[in-house]
Amino acid sequence: MTEFDLGRFEEEAHERWLHAFESNPSNREKFYITVAFPYPSGAMHVGHGRTYIVPDVIARFWRMRQKQVLFPMAFHVTGAPVVGISKRIARDDPKTIHLYRDLYKVPQNVLEEFTNPLTIVKHFAAEYQRVMTSCGLSIDWRRRFITVDPTYSKFVEWQWKHLYEAGHVIKGVHPVRYCTVDDNPVGDHDLLEGDKAEVIKFTLVMFHYGDALIPTATLRPETIHGVTNLWANPNVTYVKALVEGKAWIISKEAAEKLVLQDHTVEIIEEVPGKDLVDKTVSHPLCGTVPILPADFVDPDMATGMVMSVPAHAPFDYIALRDLQQQGKYTTIKPVPLIKVEGYGEVPAQDAVERAGIKHQMDSRMDALTQEIYSAEFSKGKLFAKFGGKPVRVAREDMAQEMLDKYDSVVMYEFDQRPVVCRCGNKVKVKILHDQWFLKYSDPEWKQQVSDHLKDMALVPPEVRTEFDRTVGWLKDWACTRRVGLGTKFPWDPAQLIEPLSDSTVYMSYYTIAHKIREIDPKLLTPEVFDYIFLGKKSPDLPEKKKLDAMREEFLYWYPYDFRFSAKDLISNHLTFQIFHHVTIFPKDKLPKGMVVFGMGLLNGAKMSSSKGNVFLLEDAVSEFGADTVRMFLTGSAEPWQDFDWRNELVLSTKKQIERFYATITELKGAQGEPQDIDRWLISRLQEHIVKMTAALENFQTRQALQEASFGIETDLKWYRRRLPEGCDGSRELATLCSVWTRLLAPFIPFTAEHLWRELGNKDLISFAEWPVADEKLINSKIELSEELLARTVEDIESIKKLIQLTPKSLTIVLAPAWKHEVFRTIAQSTDRNTVIKEIMKNDDMKKRGKEATDAAKQCTTLIHRLPPQVVEPLAKEPLNERAVFEAAQAFLEREFGVPVHIVDAESSGHAKGATALPFKPAIVIE
Ligand SMILES: [Zn+2]
Repeated sequence: MTEFDLGRFEEEAHERWLHAFESNPSNREKFYITVAFPYPSGAMHVGHGRTYIVPDVIARFWRMRQKQVLFPMAFHVTGAPVVGISKRIARDDPKTIHLYRDLYKVPQNVLEEFTNPLTIVKHFAAEYQRVMTSCGLSIDWRRRFITVDPTYSKFVEWQWKHLYEAGHVIKGVHPVRYCTVDDNPVGDHDLLEGDKAEVIKFTLVMFHYGDALIPTATLRPETIHGVTNLWANPNVTYVKALVEGKAWIISKEAAEKLVLQDHTVEIIEEVPGKDLVDKTVSHPLCGTVPILPADFVDPDMATGMVMSVPAHAPFDYIALRDLQQQGKYTTIKPVPLIKVEGYGEVPAQDAVERAGIKHQMDSRMDALTQEIYSAEFSKGKLFAKFGGKPVRVAREDMAQEMLDKYDSVVMYEFDQRPVVCRCGNKVKVKILHDQWFLKYSDPEWKQQVSDHLKDMALVPPEVRTEFDRTVGWLKDWACTRRVGLGTKFPWDPAQLIEPLSDSTVYMSYYTIAHKIREIDPKLLTPEVFDYIFLGKKSPDLPEKKKLDAMREEFLYWYPYDFRFSAKDLISNHLTFQIFHHVTIFPKDKLPKGMVVFGMGLLNGAKMSSSKGNVFLLEDAVSEFGADTVRMFLTGSAEPWQDFDWRNELVLSTKKQIERFYATITELKGAQGEPQDIDRWLISRLQEHIVKMTAALENFQTRQALQEASFGIETDLKWYRRRLPEGCDGSRELATLCSVWTRLLAPFIPFTAEHLWRELGNKDLISFAEWPVADEKLINSKIELSEELLARTVEDIESIKKLIQLTPKSLTIVLAPAWKHEVFRTIAQSTDRNTVIKEIMKNDDMKKRGKEATDAAKQCTTLIHRLPPQVVEPLAKEPLNERAVFEAAQAFLEREFGVPVHIVDAESSGHAKGATALPFKPAIVIE
């Protein structure tokens, strides 16, 4: 037998696996799994590793269950980020160069070529494939493609033709997230920060300031009557700008934003914020009010000027109070105008004082603002002198009135900041005309998706509500971009289909990816794809034979069985793909299931490439070995839980594999005669097979490893302890070695392949049959006996520790028959509260009096503590405990080195005998 050397096992296996996982239609049942393909713009870290390793474990499991498994991979290279990266490398941006040269370890000569974006994605696609292979992913690489392959673009065009014909592709005017550096709308994937930010519609309230206007953005125009002042930041330099020819005073940032929102803006001069302080403004609805200084006013929020309603806005209230406490502006009083149940006359004051908030920087201010906002919106009513309308009505009416009569305009802004593009630029809101959208807002389309979602298996089940919520709130999706790599938009070739919209049904493309390459892309008309995927015949189809072969592949593999992805894709990709599938494919070709992953942590902090908090997958594999990385990533948490990479824990996983290897090496040649304890070991093994199989069928990789690794290891420890003196284990152990190696093969395939050969097998373990439990070998009586013995040994050990004297003899005192009767009655009863009373009605028990009541109480406690697999058989039939201990007498005497006596409680005369219970004998050490 050879030494444990993961590096060498990896080399051996890679050679033997080279084409092993290429999978073709066969007469076996198929199992098709896919993972959201990666965008290869940097190096893979261990978080990515889990996303691909979990599906690989599942693929390997079902392959051993003798299904025909397809696990393909491709690379998503569409979009703008890579264009930004190439530009930054071209201009020698030090941060980018550092990231790619030092962290991702791109050789200098390759880095120089990165000024071409396609080189970047091709380089990293090759790197990804290399690292994925090093992890032992059992992928059919013949089907690999990248999303700018000409044949793939033809496929995308076909897909969009169907979306368009179904009325899901529309043109419109919409506010979108926009990056002015990339000159492109910004998708979720293009964001560095602020992916939760939403675009909100504000009303600009126009205050007159001399011959100019000062606009302030509000979501609450109905509070105009309560305005006591404006806020300006004295440290900010504002500008006077002509907006559609009228002078406005706004922040510089606001001037830039207004340009993106269909305004003509011409900056005339700068206006220092401190010059505005203590001046006055007026509005027909609130009269003349002063401008007060406030450091909290953010020039990057809407117009950079704020109207203050201290009676109803906690921030305004407290800012005013702070100034007044310094003895300034003491004549200004909050002007309430809304009555709301549960609050006093000035709701903001009420809320601030109740919460005991001392200053503006208190972290509870946002929550308090939200509280007042919601309370007033749902229950508030304007005072009679301001019209008496409920707030929810007054708000809409006032917004309209201001637009109609008081020169107000609409401005779009994010509800939170910062929102930052991957290129580092701040994202703004732009109104796009001629923008193309996928009409995800369409209620009928949503309904089709909801209907299909009901039929899908979702793992873990709690993600279902998140999918339902996403389908509910999804709005129209800007689906074209001006910059980047990708497929040209068929109805406007100056634009490209954006990355999340060209990668929704590519799982069907995998089924034909290796064959379609043989056809000239020019021949790939929509009719060709209609034939392959929908079976629609049309005259003059080219290369009919090849198309038939592809149709056969598609019909065999599709629909996919499970799709795997991290949970942050629920709100976009994972839901989008269902929208697209229901439009294009017939019912029997719609996706069947999804498995959603938790996130990765590194030493307790969220993993993030952009923040440099990552451990590269390649480094992990070379430092710890691929099997260790695989076992840690799948065994330290269930796939849907977050996992935390810590080197010291990974190291202990490696030791675990080493122990497994050493044990198999040692046991496989055992030649001894089978003993009683072999029947126990083999019985336990059947149960591990059953439980582990069930766990993997449910994607519980952690649970499965607990059974197969720790479970069997613990059994073996006991087994070896129980072997008679001079016996090293029986030839039955060969079976255990074979079963155990196969059970762990999906997790540690490199070690398993090596051992499999050492065990005398010529074929790959990757295709060996998954162990099947043999019911006939399960012997619950033996398991129960060993359980009793093991528990008693544990009790003896803890008593020994407690008394701290060298024992001369050991007596095991067995409970009398009547206590077994009591135990059984309680174990069988459905109502454990009344059972003791029932027992005490029995004459025999009555005679025993307190002794019987005590025994019943003790039995109840014991039954609660024992696992169900012990209580259930005991409820049916008592165990012959005397026989168990007599058979183990030699073992016990060897273990404890003293004579062991086995006696009945009633005849022993030991005082402690009274404490003996069924399955818990009394122990006397002398
Ligand atoms: Zn950008």
